[in-house]
Amino acid sequence: MSCAPLLANSPIAAARTRLRYTRIRTCVLGPFRYPRMPFAFEVGRLFGIRIRVHALFLAMVALFWLTQSSGEGAIGRLTLLAYLGLLFVFVLIHELGHAVMARRFGVQVIDITLWPLGGMARLSRVPETPHIELLIAAAGPVVNIVLTGLLLAVAALGNVLASTEILDPGRWFAMTDLGVGSVLAFSIGVNLIMGTFNLLPAFPLDGGRVLRALLGARLDFVAATVWAVRLGRVVAILVLVAATATDLLGITELPLLGFFLVAVFVHVAGAQEELQVRIRAEREKEAETLTTPRPAAPPRFSREEYQKLVDRLPGEEP
Ligand SMILES: [Zn+2]
Repeated sequence: MSCAPLLANSPIAAARTRLRYTRIRTCVLGPFRYPRMPFAFEVGRLFGIRIRVHALFLAMVALFWLTQSSGEGAIGRLTLLAYLGLLFVFVLIHELGHAVMARRFGVQVIDITLWPLGGMARLSRVPETPHIELLIAAAGPVVNIVLTGLLLAVAALGNVLASTEILDPGRWFAMTDLGVGSVLAFSIGVNLIMGTFNLLPAFPLDGGRVLRALLGARLDFVAATVWAVRLGRVVAILVLVAATATDLLGITELPLLGFFLVAVFVHVAGAQEELQVRIRAEREKEAETLTTPRPAAPPRFSREEYQKLVDRLPGEEP
């Protein structure tokens, strides 16, 4: 179906066309919300979904690889590359979790783009039914948490859980050898962090979408979005402040730049999505007003009065 409005002669037909146009625009809101990123290159397809990689993501990975593996031999460099490949796979699995759940509800996934802040699945439309949005948003982090559990079970079965590598977060990202213990420790660390961090109620992160869905059970879609954006901003600032404070006190060594970028993303993307939701609600309201038939005007004369007026008219000549 084309988005172009059809030619119409009557005002009602024009209004109907306009309503249809609005609905078509609505059904492809996903790409409007997060337009296809420039400088993102397709690297393949998985279950019919295009997988793209952003140039900045490649540059970041290359920079990390070059700086971290400098002074390492060929094996050290390849080992680090293998770990980065594994990270790529886990981000992809997270996004596929969203994609599979979205498809169950008839929402198509246009593509999955890997960019510096992780992955992003563009949906063909925004699910406005709270329980559907909740299930699609939660599916990604749930996949990571289930994977964490499975990997812990594998580690326990293999009797490697006792090794300090797996229980010590300080060694999760050592990435020095491809031994079973190191790979398991890395995989557990990555999945645990990816699952829990994404569940933060900072809209438009997954947890923020879950929050909007929960608010949507009581509020309308626009109000739920507004509150999710507001609360998300507070959460993003609190997390950034907490990360900076623990870092300054020497308790943790966190990538503060990453936390700062996520806070900026939450602010900017949240505002953008709130605006889109408001515009769409306005359009739908306008289209509804245009298509609702006006009530018929009450008759000015009663039947008797009308008859009297007719009787007063000069009769037709035979
Ligand atoms: Zn996600």
